[in-house]
Amino acid sequence: MTQTHSISAPLANLIDLAAMHDFDRLQAQIERLGGCARPIQITGFSATINKETSEVLHVFNTDDEPTGRLLVACGNRRTSRCPTCAETYRRDTFHLIATGLSGGKGTPKSIATHPRAFVTLTAPSFGPVHHKISTRSGVLKPCRCGHTHAAGDPLIGSPLNLDTYDYESAVLWNAHAAKIWARFTTRLRREVAKAAGLSQREFRDHARLSYAKVAEYQARGAVHFHAVVRIDGPEGSSDSPPAWATSKLLTKATKAAIKSTAVPGLGIDGNRHLYAFGKVFNVQPIRTHDFDGDTPFTDQTVAAYIAKYATKGAEAATDAIDHPLYCPTCQGTGYSDRYRCTRCDGTGEGQPIAHLVVADHARNLFRACFNLGGRPEYGHLLLRKWAHMVGFPGHFSTKSRRYSTTLGALRDVRRAWRTHQSRAALGLLDDTTLVLESAWTFIGTGYSPGEELLAAQVRRENVVARDHKNCARTEEVWL
Ligand SMILES: [Zn+2]
Ligand SMILES: [Zn+2]
Ligand SMILES: [Zn+2]
Repeated sequence: MTQTHSISAPLANLIDLAAMHDFDRLQAQIERLGGCARPIQITGFSATINKETSEVLHVFNTDDEPTGRLLVACGNRRTSRCPTCAETYRRDTFHLIATGLSGGKGTPKSIATHPRAFVTLTAPSFGPVHHKISTRSGVLKPCRCGHTHAAGDPLIGSPLNLDTYDYESAVLWNAHAAKIWARFTTRLRREVAKAAGLSQREFRDHARLSYAKVAEYQARGAVHFHAVVRIDGPEGSSDSPPAWATSKLLTKATKAAIKSTAVPGLGIDGNRHLYAFGKVFNVQPIRTHDFDGDTPFTDQTVAAYIAKYATKGAEAATDAIDHPLYCPTCQGTGYSDRYRCTRCDGTGEGQPIAHLVVADHARNLFRACFNLGGRPEYGHLLLRKWAHMVGFPGHFSTKSRRYSTTLGALRDVRRAWRTHQSRAALGLLDDTTLVLESAWTFIGTGYSPGEELLAAQVRRENVVARDHKNCARTEEVWL
């Protein structure tokens, strides 16, 4: 009796790859991606040329690569898209925030003495939501619905009554959130100047405000902000703040700025409405990590907190929907060449919102975006385009120019390090006379099925390696 052996397509592909004479180079290429979920595939070349003699010292051409292409990490910020690249982004954000609080990577150590505060800003109420309520000793007490909610209960943050929750106002607030934040930074400058007894113009000669912020979604679908605000001398992070700049003054001015921030826009009735922060906010001074103060916020905890949120999208509120919901044919308008779009039948929806596998709360948020987004007076808010972000048009993390180093600078350090390594391998250490010429073509995304097996192995090894290292060391591994 004969027996037929069948193997899966990924395994067959892996066997083909492993049979190549330069399989180890392909393996090395995939290891360098660190387990990226969806790398970018490119073809092309780069050449290292001696500027003075025009001698070509080194050529890298994807024609010489095992698969005729080069895989490059996707670089996506979101954990839901690519856990590997999001982890790189999280670490970079951690360093960015931490250097703005305790110095390092070009920011002086004296920065730790500048007054700074950790600020949490929220949206107003759009209707009552379920809460986890507990006594000081940790005993759970019933929420307004009559039940108790332990930590992790998916009901926490969702509306008590879906029929009366003001979805349209919630979505419009998100659409204005970036403007409200921008107005807040202006208000804060005014309040700090006022507290110091200076005019706006005089303020510039005495001090400068620096900040870094991330946006996060609460379970109810409202954007809120976590931010670090800091007072520097007029030249920025390297300059000592004036004597009047105390932590107390900054905290007081921040609270006043939050309360007085308002941005005019269109309300749900089509009339002028003033968009402002909600009554729930938090302003805390930040201590250096070796200071035994009474605030729970140290420079390290704040940096870790902000970095964690930098890798999240709206998934917390939208049941992991992380892609646009509008019809790509008509761009969500419902019309194509003045005729009803045949792909979405005029709804503007990429896939019927009614069919999405999400909770009713998330569906209602999406519907509000599509309903308002179809009305011409709200056209400028692009609510259908940003429906998957519950109306918030992006810009998750922003910082003022002189806060600390930049994400770009951190990436450049990594790139320079790699280039240096490859040059050292070629015996080229003096790079002043070298130029790099290159031309690349994008050909697609993702791995072949066999490569995916190799990438999965890299991810498994990463998990094991992470488990074996303590946190302090992991923070430094990337450099
Ligand atoms: Zn990636
Ligand atoms: Zn409840
Ligand atoms: Zn359409």
